[in-house]
Amino acid sequence: MDIKENIENILSEIPDNVLLVAVSKTKPVEDILEAYEIGIRNFGENKVQELVDKYDKLPKDISWHLIGSLQTNKVKYIVGKVTLIHSLSSIKLLEKIELEYGKKGMVADVLIQVNIGREASKSGALEEDLDGLIQAVERCENVKVKGIMVIIPKGNDDENRYYFKKSFEIFKELKNNIYKNISMEILSMGMTHDYKIAIEEGSNLIRIGTGIFGAR
Ligand SMILES: *Cc1c(COP(=O)(O)O)cnc(C)c1O
Repeated sequence: MDIKENIENILSEIPDNVLLVAVSKTKPVEDILEAYEIGIRNFGENKVQELVDKYDKLPKDISWHLIGSLQTNKVKYIVGKVTLIHSLSSIKLLEKIELEYGKKGMVADVLIQVNIGREASKSGALEEDLDGLIQAVERCENVKVKGIMVIIPKGNDDENRYYFKKSFEIFKELKNNIYKNISMEILSMGMTHDYKIAIEEGSNLIRIGTGIFGAR
């Protein structure tokens, strides 16, 4: 598995406005450095402990993305270390982020994770909970919402497209409104097997693991 070649292939296929986040979970720092050498600076991790370990070992100009679900008791470990939290899913978590970032006088950039397929196995806010979550965001001082993130249900190309379209509709609708602390700039959707369709349906941030670093 040639990490550099994989990255070059993906970059040659995606439009300039789409950010590639290399998902390095479970992979060693040597692999991350290979991607770093050819200019990748955005990496995604799904576990706080692993992200913090890698943060300590790797160059400080890396932008870390927390893409996995975040437990409230772990928020304190990532303050100042992550560029973007992709997994804001509840008011409880929002309040904890507000508190921990507030203690350090910092502002957290976050995406609201929407459970677009309404799957019990996945985290994320349900569509009907978005209003309440947004109202709570508007009351914050230390949290800015930059967009939404989705992990779609497993399915074929048509099913994938259906969920990406549905996600884009939500993104667009929120973008058309004016809320305090919210600017809808990022639509984080698409992984190794579906990123091309995701981009066709409006994604501007793709999260690729296997397609860069090989099977986990
Ligand atoms: C692991 C993971 C990815 C990457 O998945 P691949 O299929 O390996 O590209 C993307 N997003 C999230 C949230 C993940 O947990």
